[in-house]
Amino acid sequence: MNIHEYQAKEILKKHGVTVQEGIVADTPEAALEAAKKLHAETGTSWYVIKAQIHAGGRGKGKVQETGSNGVVLAKKLEDVTEKAAGILGGTLVTHQTGPEGKKVNKILIAQDVYYPGESEPKEYYLSILLDRAKSCNVIMASTEGGMDIEEVAEHHPEKIVKEWIDPTVGLQGFQARKVAFALGLEGEAFKQMVKFIYALYDAYVANDASMFEINPVLKTSDNKILAVDAKVNIDDNALYRHKAVAEMRDISEEDPLEVEAGENNLNYVKLDGNVGCMVNGAGLAMATMDIIKLSGGEPANFLDVGGGANAKTVEAGFRIILKDPNVKAILINIFGGIVRCDRVANGVVEAYKNIGNIAVPIIVRLQGTNAEEGARIINESGLKVKSAVVLKDAALLVKEALA
Ligand code: GDP
Ligand code: MN
Repeated sequence: MNIHEYQAKEILKKHGVTVQEGIVADTPEAALEAAKKLHAETGTSWYVIKAQIHAGGRGKGKVQETGSNGVVLAKKLEDVTEKAAGILGGTLVTHQTGPEGKKVNKILIAQDVYYPGESEPKEYYLSILLDRAKSCNVIMASTEGGMDIEEVAEHHPEKIVKEWIDPTVGLQGFQARKVAFALGLEGEAFKQMVKFIYALYDAYVANDASMFEINPVLKTSDNKILAVDAKVNIDDNALYRHKAVAEMRDISEEDPLEVEAGENNLNYVKLDGNVGCMVNGAGLAMATMDIIKLSGGEPANFLDVGGGANAKTVEAGFRIILKDPNVKAILINIFGGIVRCDRVANGVVEAYKNIGNIAVPIIVRLQGTNAEEGARIINESGLKVKSAVVLKDAALLVKEALA
């Protein structure tokens, strides 16, 4: 699950990570109040107004309706309301949102932390993520902060340092110092960075995160180390033990079909193809998507209805697949292990009747426990549903349906 920058910063602060302070607002008037409060609390007289969406690249991104950037600076209090209005309610398009962009419902009013002083402010990149290949967490850091890290990785991979963390002993002091040293820091800034890395790692582990990306981490002109931005992903499977984090979920940022699937305990991922598929078991679902491609189609989704599929889950799956206007055929591929094929067949027939007016052809392949009975139920239902026993035949039927 992804969360907003302002929420991520709340989590960071709880664990002692120093952040660029800010107050969230959802109207231009509230933005002005937030700026006044921020002035009173931090003494700042410049204000950074930041769109809160689940995508990066906001600074360079543009709000379609107004032409404003997704991150703007107000150099006086009187400008805050107007600049906030230029972002709030608009559609922000960045290189991560796709051309359709994302609606901005909230903004963060943050203190300006790039103030002049004894040294120039400098931006760094710092992230912690799970390295699945090495089965441990990795800290990645770079002096090329503020920029697109993918670009740095492509053109200057030597400018990214990595430090892998042994899960049995956790982050060691020498590792945090090694990273801070690799960033070229010294004196007070070095000490602050080591503390920062420690606190960040603590926050990451304590929240069962799978990614923390702080870009930029700023060394201020007076040698403070601050998280200016924060992109956080929490492992969905661990949310049950982080109630406060689970409540940070913003479903307006998620695909509506995926939200509906989640409510029905279905594992659904929307894709761009034309063949909807409903399968029990993730492995079989992957294999089914391969078969769809081999027969000349493109999967419209991944959908795992789980081992205990029943008429209700099948119907919910049907409804979700049918809401995708790209779907030209549906392939249902069920292996009857725990679930019996006759029950699934009844579920399909019932769901078909309940939904009514299904225009796209449906191919059902049932295999395993009570497969023959399942096929009989489908074939005798009088519905426009074709059944296959062998997956290859199912693929041929899909091909015919698309032709
Ligand atoms: P992103 O574009 O979505 O990654 O948003 P960031 O939070 O990283 O902000 C983008 C850019 O805004 C930063 O790289 C900075 O250059 C700028 N920015 C952020 N905070 C401040 C600030 O306090 N003062 C000034 N002058 N610029 C800031
Ligand atoms: Mn950023």
